[in-house]
Amino acid sequence: MTGPTHKQYSVTFAFLANILLFYYGITEINYYLALPIMLLTSKYGALFPDVDHAWQNVKDKTVPNWIINKIIHLTGGKHRSWQTHSIDICALFTVAAFFVPKILFKYDKISLVNMEVMSIILIGFASGWVSHIFSDMLTSAGVRLICFLKVKIALVPKHIGKLRFNTGNEWEAFCFKSTRIINIVLGIFAIIYPLISLGYFNIILDKINNYI
Ligand SMILES: [Zn+2]
Repeated sequence: MTGPTHKQYSVTFAFLANILLFYYGITEINYYLALPIMLLTSKYGALFPDVDHAWQNVKDKTVPNWIINKIIHLTGGKHRSWQTHSIDICALFTVAAFFVPKILFKYDKISLVNMEVMSIILIGFASGWVSHIFSDMLTSAGVRLICFLKVKIALVPKHIGKLRFNTGNEWEAFCFKSTRIINIVLGIFAIIYPLISLGYFNIILDKINNYI
């Protein structure tokens, strides 16, 4: 998938991740403060894996991207290689995003506030990375299941009839448009979710009913 499609999926995953954080009480940060942080960090997590292209083809020529690009290429990476496009590496990072801040706090290495901030940034970044892996699995090139095996897995075949499931074709245009619609619906749900889960929504509806 290309950058604009990855951005759309990063929004979907950030909305879902923020709802889950709230539902499981993983963060103490207010839901509505966490949401914009999650959206921003998820976007970066969703765009960084494709910094593995040759540097002249990387659109966003920032210093952090230059460093990431150099690390990937110095460790023998090219586009969609193990460093950024393996399910196991992404899963390891996601697990670390949950536990590393808590462990650092437990052993008095960071304060409570810093643990919360570190958690939300890392979890947001992880949600974007997971969204990238998921959306690249919707292309026939797929991603690696395990970093040291060259076998790639995808959720779609190479083609069905004339419809090809590679990057930059009608299939990607369909994914982009459908995810944008999902994001509008999910976005509305994400905004009112705390009101629903805390019962405020029912109270408001009752008041409207009484008023009518
Ligand atoms: Zn990719």
